[in-house]
Amino acid sequence: MRFADVTKSYGDLTVLDKLNLDIAQNEMVSIIGPSGSGKTTVLRVLMTLETINDGVIYVDGEPLTHMPSGAGLEVASESYLRQRRSKIGMVFQQFNLFPHMTALQNCIEAPMQVLGLSRDEAEERALDLLQMVGMDSKKDQHPTRLSGGQQQRVAIARALAMRPQVMLLDEVTSALDPEVIGEVLNVIRSLNSEHNLTMIMVTHQMGFAREISDRVCFFYEGKIAEQGSPEKLFEDPQNERTKQFLHAVL
Ligand code: ADP
Repeated sequence: MRFADVTKSYGDLTVLDKLNLDIAQNEMVSIIGPSGSGKTTVLRVLMTLETINDGVIYVDGEPLTHMPSGAGLEVASESYLRQRRSKIGMVFQQFNLFPHMTALQNCIEAPMQVLGLSRDEAEERALDLLQMVGMDSKKDQHPTRLSGGQQQRVAIARALAMRPQVMLLDEVTSALDPEVIGEVLNVIRSLNSEHNLTMIMVTHQMGFAREISDRVCFFYEGKIAEQGSPEKLFEDPQNERTKQFLHAVL
C-alpha cells in the first residue's frame, strides 16, 4: 500500500501535506504524533471515509478510488468501493458496535450481507473469532451489557470476520479504563503474531508501539517528520520535533 504525494485539506486547513508512505505486506506500522497531525485522517482516507484532494493511494498496485475499465481507469463505483472496503478492517476508538445486536449478530452481519456467507457459515466463523478474543461466553449479550474492553474485543472480532488483508486500529484503547487496556492489547499482540495481517495502528501507547511495531512513523503537520525501527525512533530520534514529542509523552 502506498501513499504518493497525498494531500487532504478541509477548507484552508491542510491535514495531509504531500504525504508519502509505503507499507509492505504483513508489516506492522504504528503512527504516533501530536493531536491534529493527521494520524486518524490517514486511516479514514484508506477506508474511503474521506476523499483526498491530490495525490494517489495505491492498494495492491491499483489506485484506491479508481477501477479498471475498457478505457483504462475510471472513478470507482460505490459497489466497487464497498468490495474494496471489505478487504480493510477498521477498529475505532469508540467501538461503534451496532447497539441493537448481540455480540454474535454484530460479527455475522457484514459477512452475510457483503460476502454472501450463509448464516451457518457466518456463525461458525464468528464463534471462532469470539473465542479467539475471549468473548465466546458473552456472544448473546448486547453491547450495553459489556465493558469497554469487552466491546472493543468484539469490535476486533467483527472486523476480522471479514477476513481483511489490512487492519486499521485507531486509538483503540483511548476510550478504555486503564484496567482493561491490557486485555485489548493482548488481543492485538496475538493478531500480530498469529495472523498474516498488514496493520496500521494510530496509538498513544508508546510502550506498546515500541514492543510490537516493525516501524514507527512520527507525524507532524500532515507529514512524516521521522520514521524508523522502534529502537531507533524511541532511543535515538534525530528530528527535533520527535525529540520534543517523546520528551513530553514518555
Ligand atoms: P490526529 O489523529 O493526528 O489527532 P486528525 O487526522 O484527526 O488528527 O485531524 C487532523 C486535523 O484535521 C485536525 O486539526 C482536525 O481538527 C481536522 N479535521 C478532521 N476532520 C475534520 C472535518 N471533518 N472537518 C474539518 N476539520 C477536520
